[in-house]
Amino acid sequence: MTEFRNFIDGQFVSGRGDGFANHFPTTGEVIGEIRAADKAQVDQAVGAARAALKGPWGRMSVPERIGLLRKLADGINARFDDFLAAEIRDTGKPRSIASHIDIPRGAANFNVFADQVATLGTESFAMPTPDGTGALNYAVRTPRGVIAVICPWNLPLLLMTWKVAPALACGNTVVVKPSEETPATATLLGEVMNEVGIPAGVYNVVHGRGPGCAGEFLTTHADVDGITFTGETRTGEAIMAAAARGVRPVSLELGGKNPGIIFDDADFDKTMEGIGRACFANTGQVCLGTERIYVQRGIFDRVAEGLADKARSYRFGDPFDTVTTMGPVISAEHRAKVLSFYDKARSEGANLVAGGGVPDLQGYEGGYWVEPTVWTGLPETSPVISEEIFGPCTHLTPFDTEEEAIALANNSPYGLATSIWTENLTRAHRVAGQVEVGISWVNCWFLRDLRTAFGGSKASGIGREGGIHSMEFYSELRNVCVKL
Ligand code: NAD
Repeated sequence: MTEFRNFIDGQFVSGRGDGFANHFPTTGEVIGEIRAADKAQVDQAVGAARAALKGPWGRMSVPERIGLLRKLADGINARFDDFLAAEIRDTGKPRSIASHIDIPRGAANFNVFADQVATLGTESFAMPTPDGTGALNYAVRTPRGVIAVICPWNLPLLLMTWKVAPALACGNTVVVKPSEETPATATLLGEVMNEVGIPAGVYNVVHGRGPGCAGEFLTTHADVDGITFTGETRTGEAIMAAAARGVRPVSLELGGKNPGIIFDDADFDKTMEGIGRACFANTGQVCLGTERIYVQRGIFDRVAEGLADKARSYRFGDPFDTVTTMGPVISAEHRAKVLSFYDKARSEGANLVAGGGVPDLQGYEGGYWVEPTVWTGLPETSPVISEEIFGPCTHLTPFDTEEEAIALANNSPYGLATSIWTENLTRAHRVAGQVEVGISWVNCWFLRDLRTAFGGSKASGIGREGGIHSMEFYSELRNVCVKL
């Protein structure tokens, strides 16, 4: 059985905190043990990260750092199969997803932010002075220091490197706390860090749960200079409170209840393909996923049936088998949460268009499976429509006018993403500008240019990451004013 050890100051060390089991979601079997870092080990990790800022890493030129970032991308790709197997065993997600999204994009993040830092400039202002000689202001970009990186379990490597890569590109050091559900790829990345010559202490990993454990020890640590977090909105609130002490900056990428809007002139096949993925990809465990869809009345039944066909088309099974297209959800606990919403929909009288239960899968009875599910008929006040479920399920509500669709979409405390489907591009632009979200997709979903601003409005987050926006969070400008 694998023991997932912490990675502190370039060394793998067994945790001295709680030990707990790591499960293979496909079967529920125990495949590893996580040894959480205790408070003293989190202290050590933060201390190592602090010390590394003053070591060779802190003295490195930007081109040298870029060279190491590119080696990290190459290093992950050189061990692609190890990362792939680790991610699949942690999450149960099919190879078809992990080999196309999680691992390649997890590696690519290092190249993306190497490119970004290579061309990064700062501002300069010449100013007049009363004596006529003038003064020159220019900004120097400095690393923030030690960054705490707190990650979720749904896209473990991809979302971790989305933060670690720009943090390192800007010259920071990091202490990563992966999700307790998915410790594997963050740990494996420690090996690659050593292989490519990242100095000890630059990248540290502490395992464990959040509250009262490694997560909280890290986010409340006085020597952490900034916190970047992706996860649930409720956890984001706790992290923001922790960051208030010492006035540390936070970047929060939080939950969502993303609306899809389908107009009656949408290209039906393209829409079904895109919205189907938006509802069911990664077993619905994508923060950008679409759990409520507003459909113009004239095509409502056709869309409901089209989506039901998509829901029924998935193949469950061995995630290492290339024919498998849908995996289980991450844990027994998460399955219980998702199924509680399935029960709620039933008790509130939803019309079940597809799914609604647990698939009957011989040989995988212990796994955390749920059926992709489509409902109609619930009022907008239902928790099924207002709360994030984070499962492979969606609810369809009809609308008549554009104004009504926008109002329905905006009727949520969340504001992460939307996808709008119409062949009328004037309307598409008009609607995209009015839905209160950080990311609006038109006739597509999850199409990502990594230079663009990524983040949520309202309760879906604070700040933007991606491209220059990541650079702004992971570095600080120091203005120098020179009297001439
Ligand atoms: P979570 O909030 O339960 O946990 C995320 C991480 O925070 C874990 O590592 C956990 O151990 C840690 N944590 C929990 N409590 C903590 C505390 N008090 N102090 C410090 N750390 C703590 O989220 P999850 O269940 O792992 O992930 C799913 C959620 O993430 C969903 O809500 C989803 O929408 C969101 N998400 C958002 C984005 C985005 O970009 N906006 C991307 C992916 C996932």
